[in-house]
Amino acid sequence: MQIAVIGGGLAGLTSAIAMANQGLSVTLIEKKSYPLHKVCGEYVSNEVLPYLRSIGADPALLQPASISRFRLTSPKGVVLESPLDLGGFGVSRYTFDQFLYQVALSKGVQVRLQTAVQDVQFAGNQFLLKLSDGDTLTAEVALGAFGKRSTLDRQLNRSFFSKRSPYLGVKYHLRLDMPTDLIALHNFQDGYAGISAIEDGRYCFCYLTTRENLRRHGAIPAMERAILQQNPHLRRIFSEAEFLYEQPEVINEISFATKTCVENHLLLCGDAAGMITPLCGNGMAMAIHAGKLAAEQVVHYFQSGRNRQALEAGYTLAWKKQFEQRLRVGRAVQRLFGHPLLSEAAVGTLRHLPAAVRLIMRQTHGQPF
Ligand SMILES: Cc1cc2nc3c(=O)[nH]c(=O)nc-3n(C[C@H](O)[C@H](O)[C@H](O)COP(=O)(O)OP(=O)(O)OC[C@H]3O[C@@H](n4cnc5c(N)ncnc54)[C@H](O)[C@@H]3O)c2cc1C
Repeated sequence: MQIAVIGGGLAGLTSAIAMANQGLSVTLIEKKSYPLHKVCGEYVSNEVLPYLRSIGADPALLQPASISRFRLTSPKGVVLESPLDLGGFGVSRYTFDQFLYQVALSKGVQVRLQTAVQDVQFAGNQFLLKLSDGDTLTAEVALGAFGKRSTLDRQLNRSFFSKRSPYLGVKYHLRLDMPTDLIALHNFQDGYAGISAIEDGRYCFCYLTTRENLRRHGAIPAMERAILQQNPHLRRIFSEAEFLYEQPEVINEISFATKTCVENHLLLCGDAAGMITPLCGNGMAMAIHAGKLAAEQVVHYFQSGRNRQALEAGYTLAWKKQFEQRLRVGRAVQRLFGHPLLSEAAVGTLRHLPAAVRLIMRQTHGQPF
């Protein structure tokens, strides 16, 4: 096999499709199976559209919501509104990942589901992957698209893995009377929640907060009543919405730490190489864009003398040029909105400075690619 892709989220699926389109033999290994719910705000920046169409994965087929306006509220409910220059679309990960998986199969990608990669070694100029079903695979090139936190990070001895992160994420799907072209971000003490339309007249409601906030209140419903509902816009959502799950999806240990994009010769894409704060609504676009950069470098590698050093250097350069600054601004924005007084002051000030709001958005997004 020429290429192994570890992890079948957005970075893994789109890069596998792009490489298969160029006639390369690709095996993708995903530890879960599709369709699956993921904790994610499910707002995708339109910057990805030209690329998704070019690889044969146009999301218009999924009839996503079209989103062009942004609303930000402070913990006390002060409102800032702005148009979204690029805009985006809303589609659930349940539908989007399943769609990309089907496209990948149709392009000839070999997919192994419900199989985790437990160990990756590089020796004799090739990768040896140990799988959870006892099998082993060899590959000349391997992409690590295993998301924000995986047992492989421990195995690769990555430094962020041993540091605990204070953040957790919670997601619901719901029905609510709300414009479908609007994404709203509502701040609350020690966190923020996003809500926007997805397909089928549903909405994704997703928030990020701290483990400490949850610990203080003992359980998610108690925390939502005591803290989130202090913001009048969130109180309205909790009182008027029809919640479509029995239980929310919950994840913890969400880390925005700086990571590397090549590790033990693995090319890392998406959250595996660094995660931007969800506040920016750009993580999925970055994952897809990183998958594109990696696929381009890998295609070049197989077409031009198979120089591994040039492959790794070329990918690192392209990745840093595209994402380093965006991640830096994202970390600064995250600090601003984590704190109740700061976020109150930030919304209060920024609502009078529309040009500054648009500048922050530009700095945390890419151009259409
Ligand atoms: C609360 C929250 C809200 C967010 N909201 C938004 C938003 O509105 N818009 C936006 O653009 N971004 C948002 N994001 C970010 C976005 O979800 C991520 O940036 C995006 O999912 C990254 O894609 P990925 O392909 O890198 O990883 P993932 O989609 O996480 O995929 C990784 C895959 O790898 C698999 N895997 C892991 N380990 C192994 C292994 N050892 N073997 C095999 N498979 C493995 C996993 O099962 C998973 O399917 C949000 C994130 C959070 C936490």
